[in-house]
Amino acid sequence: AGRHFAGSPGDAAHHAAGPLDEARIRTRFPPEPNGYLHIGHAKSICLNFGLARDYGGACHLRFDDTNPEKEEQEYVDAIKDMVQWLGWSWGDNLYEASSYFDFMYRAAEALVEAGLAYVDEQTPEEMRQNRGDFGTPGTNSPWRDRSPADNLARFREMRDGKHPDGAMVLRAKIDMASPNINLRDPTIYRIKHAEHHATGNRWCIYPMYTFAHPIEDALERITHSICTLEFEDQRPFYDWLLNQLADLGLLARPLPRQFEFGRLNLNYVVTSKRKLRQLVEESHVSGWDDPRMPTLVGLRRRGYTPESVRAMVEATGVTKQNAWIEDTVLDGCLRADLEPQAPRAFAVLQPLKLKLTNFAEVFGSDAHREPCETAAHPHKPELGQRRFTLGPELWIETEDFMEVPVKGYFRLFPGNKVRLKAGYVIECTGCEKGADGSVTAVLATVVPDTKSGTPGADAVKVKGVIGWVAAHEAVAAEIRLYERLFTTPQPDAGEGNFLDFVNPNSLRVVQGFVEPSLAGAVADQRWQFERHGYFVSDRVDHRADKPVFNKITGLRDSFAK
Ligand code: ATP
Ligand code: MG
Ligand code: MG
Repeated sequence: AGRHFAGSPGDAAHHAAGPLDEARIRTRFPPEPNGYLHIGHAKSICLNFGLARDYGGACHLRFDDTNPEKEEQEYVDAIKDMVQWLGWSWGDNLYEASSYFDFMYRAAEALVEAGLAYVDEQTPEEMRQNRGDFGTPGTNSPWRDRSPADNLARFREMRDGKHPDGAMVLRAKIDMASPNINLRDPTIYRIKHAEHHATGNRWCIYPMYTFAHPIEDALERITHSICTLEFEDQRPFYDWLLNQLADLGLLARPLPRQFEFGRLNLNYVVTSKRKLRQLVEESHVSGWDDPRMPTLVGLRRRGYTPESVRAMVEATGVTKQNAWIEDTVLDGCLRADLEPQAPRAFAVLQPLKLKLTNFAEVFGSDAHREPCETAAHPHKPELGQRRFTLGPELWIETEDFMEVPVKGYFRLFPGNKVRLKAGYVIECTGCEKGADGSVTAVLATVVPDTKSGTPGADAVKVKGVIGWVAAHEAVAAEIRLYERLFTTPQPDAGEGNFLDFVNPNSLRVVQGFVEPSLAGAVADQRWQFERHGYFVSDRVDHRADKPVFNKITGLRDSFAK
């Protein structure tokens, strides 16, 4: 059996964790590389890496790749990328659970030899029936009292590929009457003739998660094995297994301890990998990184900053309750992060033409370009000035004109004056209309000597200030506006299919204009578009000659977002 017995357990522990320092805490983030990380994982990442940082310890990034199916290198790479994006570093502590398969197999044989594990040949259905239920003790398997020697021979046959999938399993021998169902002889190894992304066809038996995970923790000398609440009932088996293996001399004490905390759940979001995959595969979204997805690649592309994700996770705290958090909390964190630093810009999302009919009169010619400027950020002079020019034709927001104003409307309507922000006061004189009666252009005149920042600019009082982009230098841009992906706060809570609650209006694409200072924008830059909210140049589709901006969130919460 030599090929399965390379190295000694001491070597394994040493190799896994480096020189031991018992005083330091050691945590781990152990994703299964079977999908992309989501906002819930961010909680676990920040908790584990944060504890290590705060207490001068180390946090391991461990790929929990003990299940041969559905695991792929693509996910391994994406997970590393996202942990780094969130701002964490695993240093030298990068591990793969599959590299412990030899040790796990050896541990299983040791349990068999000690009479603590047996090969069970019941059908899955029989095993289910004999497990019992809450309040009903289970029934011992007819195979439970086989001798260690027979069990060992049978287990080696399993390993050597002599039996098909599902023919038998290896079970820990604990107590079929335990009030904790997880202690009723849990399965620890199963037959699976499947190729593994890291170990290829070397194995046709694979350890169960509940067996593999404690061993991974122990070999890496983890001190705090932090997991979500649903694993609370697994803790007795975690401790049972590690103590048996320590008694058998396979593991060193002190052993890791498991701690549970509440999952992070967000309203209007699903985080099950299976459901996220379904959204992608059934084309409800454009991919794992669709800006509407709660995956970290999706949140990044949407424009959320790592700081905002970390702040949100911190704001929700660590509790023993599975918390449901409002999705607006993340938006609040994003605003708090961007408000003090994001440069401002004018953008017109629903453009309407505005013609300054006295432009040539005031400035000498319609070919004149009147320079205007304003601070890139109201409180950050170091970000410099935004410069643009005024010409005879502008783009303004459609909603900034009303031919017949409603009560309390201070923007453009015939006879009213407004200020073009960082420009002149103008007076609306009327509008042009198309054959169908719709407004095609607003008409206005410039009020001379009212340029922002010049003496006397305030002589003419106005109640409304509007954004604008001069038509001659406006940069045409595709702007993607998002609403929640689901129409109900907990789409996967009740009966019914979560896909029935996909919001058909979650993406709206408009063709707008942005100010000329954005002509040189590169991908993944963020701005506050004045009055509209926070936007990012799309990291995938944005080009200098074909700009694409995603709306991250508005300036404040609104129901439609
Ligand atoms: P899924 O159910 O979507 O497959 P998972 O928990 O099985 O998620 P893993 O890759 O095993 O995914 O997760 C890695 C770590 O992230 C685990 O320690 C898990 O407890 C933690 N985690 C996953 N989802 C959440 C969540 N919503 N809140 C907090 N921690 C989470
Ligand atoms: Mg999973
Ligand atoms: Mg899991």
